[in-house]
Amino acid sequence: MIAEKMMPLVRNNSAIRTMFEEGRRLAALYGPENVFDFSLGNPNVPAPDAVKQAILDVLEEEDPVFVHGYMSNAGYEDVRAAVADSLNRRFGTAFHENNILMTVGAASGMNVILKTILNPGDQVLVFAPYFLEYGSYVRNYDGELSVVPPHLPDFQPDLEAFRRQLSPKTKAVIINTPNNPTGVVYSEETLRKLGEILREKEKEFGTDIVLISDEPYRELAYDGVEVPYVTQYYANTVVCYSYSKSLSLPGERIGYLVIPDEMKDSGEVFAAAVIANRVLGCVNAPSLMQRVIKRCVDEGVNLEAYDRNRSRLYGALTEYGFSCIRPQGAFYLFVKSPLEDEAQFCRICKEHNILVVPGSSFACPGYVRIAYCVSYQQIERSLPAFAQVARACGLRGA
Ligand code: PLP
Repeated sequence: MIAEKMMPLVRNNSAIRTMFEEGRRLAALYGPENVFDFSLGNPNVPAPDAVKQAILDVLEEEDPVFVHGYMSNAGYEDVRAAVADSLNRRFGTAFHENNILMTVGAASGMNVILKTILNPGDQVLVFAPYFLEYGSYVRNYDGELSVVPPHLPDFQPDLEAFRRQLSPKTKAVIINTPNNPTGVVYSEETLRKLGEILREKEKEFGTDIVLISDEPYRELAYDGVEVPYVTQYYANTVVCYSYSKSLSLPGERIGYLVIPDEMKDSGEVFAAAVIANRVLGCVNAPSLMQRVIKRCVDEGVNLEAYDRNRSRLYGALTEYGFSCIRPQGAFYLFVKSPLEDEAQFCRICKEHNILVVPGSSFACPGYVRIAYCVSYQQIERSLPAFAQVARACGLRGA
């Protein structure tokens, strides 16, 4: 009964479900406190108190017919203006409400922009390692994904390989900084060069190439690292933002797209994206959450908890002999597998009740992703198990 295009998705989904079920099985056998699940990027830091207060205030103070009603498919004008003002204050941009389209999170924002710009057969470039859902999003609109291999050991994009892979068929390039799964933040220098290459290739091919900057982790950066605002380096940029991580609201499904005036045919692209939002079935972003975002545009989660987890886990794992780039953002460590076969390494981790995601799930075998958006107690309790895994793989251990 199901469509052919769905078949590979169903097969892949069962792999993820297997991992989830494995976690439950281990928890039932050994007790949940003895199972160290680092597989999911689900924030464990609560949403700021201001969000709860804003929900209560919206319900108390605003007209319920308005709050729960339909609005423009792009979202409430005042909410979009508040988002634009906040970006302008923080990043020196000059956006206005008609640059901002409220979306059902980043997943939906990515689908909206890809539906808006892709013709069948158009090529979309991504840099490995990357969030594997991009492949499904691109195939939803019959685009073709082309993967630029990882640049080791720093995981900044390999710009020379990128230059070679751009072709007259390239319609879009997706970047994600701070990055899932590496935690790397692309430097200003990288973004400037990336913009130069794109302009050069647009000229050479006589085409337009859209840079899509997927930014759910923008606010999660440590050590005072700046996350440069991508629209400042390349005009044909669309920013895809989400509050899933920055306000710990992944289940509420709220985010936005920025389609700047500088982009070619900006007004047309914006109008088409609003229609895409509607016909994809989202219609509009959740109304109550939009009202809340207006009151919380400058709020953020407590980053200290993630930072503490990051330092503790990175410090301990590198002491045990694992190699890993020190992440500057997001909440992931991307650790080099000490065994050639990363699947074997994942099995050894599982024997010690540690669940991690193989790098092949991000098109980068030979590594594993450890999501440290867990309790500090889980990290502390897991360290002896990590030390044992290290020894089992011929590393120092504790
Ligand atoms: N993009 C990346 C890189 C992600 O890691 C995620 C979620 O983990 C998403 C997009 C989707 O985020 P959202 O919850 O806003 O749809």
